[in-house]
Amino acid sequence: MKIEFRKIPFEAKDFSFTSNSVIFEGNFGKISPTLAKFDAKMSGTIPSSCYKCGENMDLEINETIDFIVSDGIYSDDKHEETVIEVDNNIIDFDQLIDSEITSINSDYHVCSNCNSNDLFEKEL
Ligand SMILES: [Zn+2]
Repeated sequence: MKIEFRKIPFEAKDFSFTSNSVIFEGNFGKISPTLAKFDAKMSGTIPSSCYKCGENMDLEINETIDFIVSDGIYSDDKHEETVIEVDNNIIDFDQLIDSEITSINSDYHVCSNCNSNDLFEKEL
């Protein structure tokens, strides 16, 4: 799903978008002519792999993600949320989900097998 930046309403609007087995939902609205705020939740399962044994696994996610999308280069730093810049006036939901999944996947995840052998190590 894609939406043109200029079509985003100032009044927060609900959205729900599904990509593969991930549901991305919440609301979004403009907070200025060039900034839109998203209060979103992402849930479902994403394919990942265990960083210890490399085993493929499904990672269950349930993340709250609040971020701001900037139409063009963002040069102000008054917002604490992550700011995502779009440069063609189009917000691409698939791309947003992809980048969130990539960032979740860049954390270390351990499969249940390794996890049960891992309790000792964690206490160190
Ligand atoms: Zn493992």
